[in-house]
Amino acid sequence: MPASQRSIFELSRNELVTWCERHGEKAFRARQIRRWLFPNRATSFEDMLELPKSLREKLTAEFSIFTGEIQQHQVATDRTEKLLLQLPDGNTVECVLMRETDRRTVCISTQVGCAMGCVFCASGMLGLKRNLTRGEILEQILRVDRLLDEDERLTNIVVMGIGEPLQNLPQLLPVLDEVTSDSGLAMSPRRVTVSTVGLPAKIKELAKLNRPFNLAVSLHAATDQLRNELVPVNDNIGVEDILAAADEYFEVTGRRITYEYVLLGGVNDQPAHAHQLADLLADRNAHVNLIPMNDVETLPFHEPAEPETQSFVAILEARGTAATVRKRKGADIDAACGQLRLKQETDSQPEA
Ligand code: SAH
Repeated sequence: MPASQRSIFELSRNELVTWCERHGEKAFRARQIRRWLFPNRATSFEDMLELPKSLREKLTAEFSIFTGEIQQHQVATDRTEKLLLQLPDGNTVECVLMRETDRRTVCISTQVGCAMGCVFCASGMLGLKRNLTRGEILEQILRVDRLLDEDERLTNIVVMGIGEPLQNLPQLLPVLDEVTSDSGLAMSPRRVTVSTVGLPAKIKELAKLNRPFNLAVSLHAATDQLRNELVPVNDNIGVEDILAAADEYFEVTGRRITYEYVLLGGVNDQPAHAHQLADLLADRNAHVNLIPMNDVETLPFHEPAEPETQSFVAILEARGTAATVRKRKGADIDAACGQLRLKQETDSQPEA
């Protein structure tokens, strides 16, 4: 039977209950189905053994569990894994599994492409095509979850893949509800991090929900002059408004803000830049996550030299600003943001 193109993950818990009732099934069937879909990692409705055969058939006729197809699956020597998923409309998105001793983190995308245009980023090079649906976002998490060993569980979610998550909150928030709900993956919201280019109105909107998600703000420069060059959307926003919104997020949720700072060799990695950043964050409960640039072919930016990176961290720490350098994962695959999709898209459309 050809699989239906409608993902069951487009339905909320309540919508699934309604669907069951409309099909003459008891509401508790929805709970059973969700147990198979989430913790039990079913890959077909036929797997859902305690459901009556007629219900399994109805589900199969109407829904797919996954609507995307795994177009590429890369595994790095550090066991980082990356999936390139092809969506029903032919677009592709990436998601990544990162393993550390005590955590297994999935990194997900929220859009096909990105409209922000950060000059060092592979994801925005082909512009924004569209938002992902809730089912397409959830599919990434659950596909990655199904890569784990039977006794392994996902511990963290970072919304740091392709796209600007705060531009797609209507689809992202229901997904975060699902993964943190007891009838979903029952993950702690404290282990979810949403990374944003810094959209003040949206940061405030997220703060109002008062859920203890972590917020990571991609700052990359402490002055508007430099930030305008690196993050073009900053032109209409400005560092000051972003920090004010992030402060509000911290005040409401009590979650310490992470500031991401991609170190671009010779561009924003000098001692003066570190001092500017320390000035900016001086009275704030913040953490700086320094990310050495992942080189992207055709882009004129490069990884910083090791001594520059070390002195950048040392200056921040001496000035009382907590900072860490992000460990590189999956260095021998195209695990960095948007690179695999970019490669695939540019290979298949040489004119792009
Ligand atoms: N749009 C969101 C989330 C996606 S990118 C945001 O801007 O935060 C996640 C992080 O990776 C961001 O901090 C982004 O600036 C950074 N990034 C993008 N391209 C990179 C590259 N080539 N090397 C290192 N970090 C990069």
